[in-house]
Amino acid sequence: MAVETVTPAERANAAKLGPAANEKDAEKLRFIEEMTSNPDAVQKNVLAEILTRNAETEYLRRYDLGGATDRATFKANVPVVTYEDLQPEIQRIANGDRSAILSAHPISEFLTSSGTSAGERKLMPTIKEELDRRQLLYSLLMPVMNLYVPGLDKGKGLYFLFVKSETKTPGGLTARPVLTSYYKSEHFKSRPYDPYNVHTSPNAAILCADAFQSMYAQMLCGLLQRLDVLRVGAVFASGLLRAIRFLQLHWQELIQDIAAGSLTAKITDPSVRAAVTEILKPDPELAEFVAAECAKGDWAGIITRIWPNTKYLDVIVTGAMAQYIPTLEYYSGGLPMACTMYASSECYFGLNLKPMCDPSEVSYTIMPNMGYFEFLPHGDGYDADKAAAQQLVDLADVEVGKKYELVITTYAGLNRYRVGDILQVTGFYNAAPQFRFVRRKNVLLSIESDKTDEAELQKAVESASALLRPYDASVVEYTSHAYTKSIPGHYVVYWELLTKGSAAVAEALARDGVMEKCCLAMEEALNAVYRQSRVADGSIGPLEIRVVRGGTFEELMDYAISRGASINQYKVPRCVSFPPILELLDSRVVSAHFSPAPPKWSPRRRTEEN
Ligand code: AMP
Repeated sequence: MAVETVTPAERANAAKLGPAANEKDAEKLRFIEEMTSNPDAVQKNVLAEILTRNAETEYLRRYDLGGATDRATFKANVPVVTYEDLQPEIQRIANGDRSAILSAHPISEFLTSSGTSAGERKLMPTIKEELDRRQLLYSLLMPVMNLYVPGLDKGKGLYFLFVKSETKTPGGLTARPVLTSYYKSEHFKSRPYDPYNVHTSPNAAILCADAFQSMYAQMLCGLLQRLDVLRVGAVFASGLLRAIRFLQLHWQELIQDIAAGSLTAKITDPSVRAAVTEILKPDPELAEFVAAECAKGDWAGIITRIWPNTKYLDVIVTGAMAQYIPTLEYYSGGLPMACTMYASSECYFGLNLKPMCDPSEVSYTIMPNMGYFEFLPHGDGYDADKAAAQQLVDLADVEVGKKYELVITTYAGLNRYRVGDILQVTGFYNAAPQFRFVRRKNVLLSIESDKTDEAELQKAVESASALLRPYDASVVEYTSHAYTKSIPGHYVVYWELLTKGSAAVAEALARDGVMEKCCLAMEEALNAVYRQSRVADGSIGPLEIRVVRGGTFEELMDYAISRGASINQYKVPRCVSFPPILELLDSRVVSAHFSPAPPKWSPRRRTEEN
């Protein structure tokens, strides 16, 4: 993309949001206008506010700001950090130290990120008032959507939303994912009635910690109100596909309940039973209709066949989720997919002001009131980390076409913290830059919210290949692929083996089920988010090892070189998605093996168990 210069006047002439669907929306849209019109001033105030309130924290005192709250002093004194740098402070808070270490306001809980450190979810400290800030960002989404899709007050949204398990840190603070925290908050549970934002799922179903009961109840309620449904969604694309898979597996039970008007005994949670029973009446006609649709071998367009009034899917399909776009298109018959917001456990960032655009065009506008944002120039090729460490760019100063890594300073006490997301500036709305989500740094494999990097994959392969040693066999080369053609998706790892006395060794390996054990050993070595998705959520399928015949990786190199790679610099790609390469690998597979059992996982962190 070419770098272009946009004058403030040109930016000011950008189209205004409107007309709003109602007065409440108008107020929210005015807020967006205000925030995006002068992001630099807002950012200056946000930083001053954060530095003023956290001036006496142990962390900021270390950097001698001397009461200064300006950007120059802050940038000159406070270092850019990663999670690992903050680990000692975070551990102290987790262990119960209540002094003002990072934040002057008490840490109310930890949010467990899907990003990991040493194999465990990162713990992000948060404070009570952050809930208000998140709520504020949520409140902007429907007013923007209403600009593009009229009539959303005439029906409901079928959203598959889930809570996950939570734990306590040794010091007694709750640790749970940010969405679990939000759904369990009064902001969500006691939200005022808004005709534009009515869900088919009762709160009790969303808040039920049992994944099966929660999904069953939400699906049943969605079927019962099928003609009211105007939008279908989940947070991420993978979540919506899991719901479709659930329907494939359980439609027979669901239609029995619908026909009889009575809820299966499998739903044991009393509050879920009460909420579902309230709307469940015998409806043999509906049962027959759903059965007829589901019994058809072909599930193409199933979403619009069952919920014919659906105008769009509300799911994130940017970043790692882009791999699910073709499958969602298939099941929805090509409905638009709206990616409405961009957020993380550390901080909620912003929203998509054109939510009905094509997924490839999605840009997020960071709301300058959410935190203080800086941008580390990101180059392809040179060590941008070092070169640019001293030259972080402010939100208002980023340039169109350039890529940056996001660095945040939050009200909850993260200072100049590297999130690990790479963003590219696509343009401006008013004076606020808009960003395409490029990728998360160092992620090799991802099926759902799991993020496996190269080092983790390497460690898993090493740990599993130890099982081959007694057989005089070893792994000479490997690569991997996130297989998402089936639901749930799973990791495929291609192994080329070196065996001495091939036939006998192969026989012994097969006899002892060694390759299957290797699959499980790899899973055991992967991070907690992966293992939780496998065990508690069932959102990742068993890991598969495909053994390829000797010489395959050399062929892979030949192929890369024929396409212009340099022989000297060639490195085996540790993850592949390019179809011709996958075809080559698959055509050389001699045997395929799956993990025979789920790996170990418990809500408790392994570090605490030791
Ligand atoms: P977590 O900390 O588990 O909440 O994960 C947050 C991360 O998810 C972000 O830092 C991004 O890498 C990713 N993410 C969140 N929203 C989006 C989005 N709209 N598009 C692409 N990736 C996203």
